Amino acid sequence: MVPAMVKAVFPGSFDPPTFGHLNIIERARTIFERVLVVVAVNRDKNYLFNTEERLAFMREFVAPWPNVEVHACDTLIVEFARKHSCRVLLRGVRSVQDFSYEFELSILNKGVGPEIETFFMPTDQKYFVLRSSAIKELASLGGDVSGMVPSVVATALERFRTVSS
Ligand code: ADP
Repeated sequence: MVPAMVKAVFPGSFDPPTFGHLNIIERARTIFERVLVVVAVNRDKNYLFNTEERLAFMREFVAPWPNVEVHACDTLIVEFARKHSCRVLLRGVRSVQDFSYEFELSILNKGVGPEIETFFMPTDQKYFVLRSSAIKELASLGGDVSGMVPSVVATALERFRTVSS
């Protein structure tokens, strides 16, 4: 059987988006027919940036890539993937710790949607230390995050600075 063109979903909080996220998307878009970036909306999570802000960031960053689109999702990601005919659930992996968490998540997702396959993409070595939570903390303390996130994100993070420089 000849494999069909495959669409992938890349879900995440993207709170905020980092160069690590964008690197995964940039590489994935050359492999999959379409990449649907899905901004998670989870009422139990305290996001620094609201849904509209996270969507706007991602839409701006993927604008140069015609086969990448951005959505919000407040349901199970497997349901979203099924509804949009995506066969692949893409996750980035930075470390063994990431992998063990992602592996368990993939088993759970396989139980809910057996037809959807999780693919793991290892981070580029340049980005393996980039973690949204650490970047938020660093920025709040006045650290320089300009090499970690696009400049519009670095500027937006300045409003959460708790120490003056
Ligand atoms: P989540 O809350 O779903 O983990 P994140 O926004 O933290 O959302 O991450 C979304 C996806 O991007 C996850 O698969 C995560 O492992 C991956 N990711 C995050 N940072 C990096 C990075 N620096 N390099 C590669 N993948 C990353």
